[in-house]
Amino acid sequence: MTKDKIGIFGGTFDPVHWAHLLIAEGACSQFGLEQVIWVVNSRPHYKRSTPFEHRWEMVRQAIADRHDWTIAPRSDNFVQAKYASQTLQQLQAIYPDSSWYWILGLDTFLTLPRWYHRQEIAPACEWSIAPRPLSGSESPPIQVLCDRVAQQLATESIDIRWQIIDLPLVGISASLVRQYCCDRRSIRYLVPEAVKIYISTHQLYV
Ligand code: ATP
Repeated sequence: MTKDKIGIFGGTFDPVHWAHLLIAEGACSQFGLEQVIWVVNSRPHYKRSTPFEHRWEMVRQAIADRHDWTIAPRSDNFVQAKYASQTLQQLQAIYPDSSWYWILGLDTFLTLPRWYHRQEIAPACEWSIAPRPLSGSESPPIQVLCDRVAQQLATESIDIRWQIIDLPLVGISASLVRQYCCDRRSIRYLVPEAVKIYISTHQLYV
């Protein structure tokens, strides 16, 4: 029996933007994923963020037209999950016999060697990495950077499988969207229309 291929796409999504949707779509078509589960981080410990309910609702609306994409519910333990490893464990309990693709941008993948419980999570997923412009001076090619991550983990005897999602570089970020709102610039074409309306209705980021 072939296992269902399920993508997990975690993030703060403050707010969700077109690059997120493009990445999920790229991973779906490239790896033949049956579904993508979007997991909105409840309380990112490293940055101040918009209340979870708003961020969750914006993701829900952004993916509403996709029958193969779901959002992890806000009413159960996903909300409390502090670490990616807990999220994966919970999903594995709900969908046993699946193969897991963790979808993330290059900047996030570069932090994997510092993730809590990486010994468990890193070998359990296929790491599906979206290219992303990195800040700072010119950086090495994505292939080289990803190889370095794999080598770093190998020093702890952690073996990972990873692939780059074949996508163009997209310079959209949630911080850019928030900055545009703050500067009263248009965010049309940076976020889906429903998200744009939600942001203006609830006067987020002003
Ligand atoms: P912020 O600007 O507030 O840091 P963000 O745009 O990175 O936010 P997140 O919700 O933190 O949004 O990102 C969720 C995931 O999507 C992360 O793995 C991140 O690397 C990835 N991601 C976000 N934007 C892009 C992009 N433009 N290209 C590639 N990956 C991206």
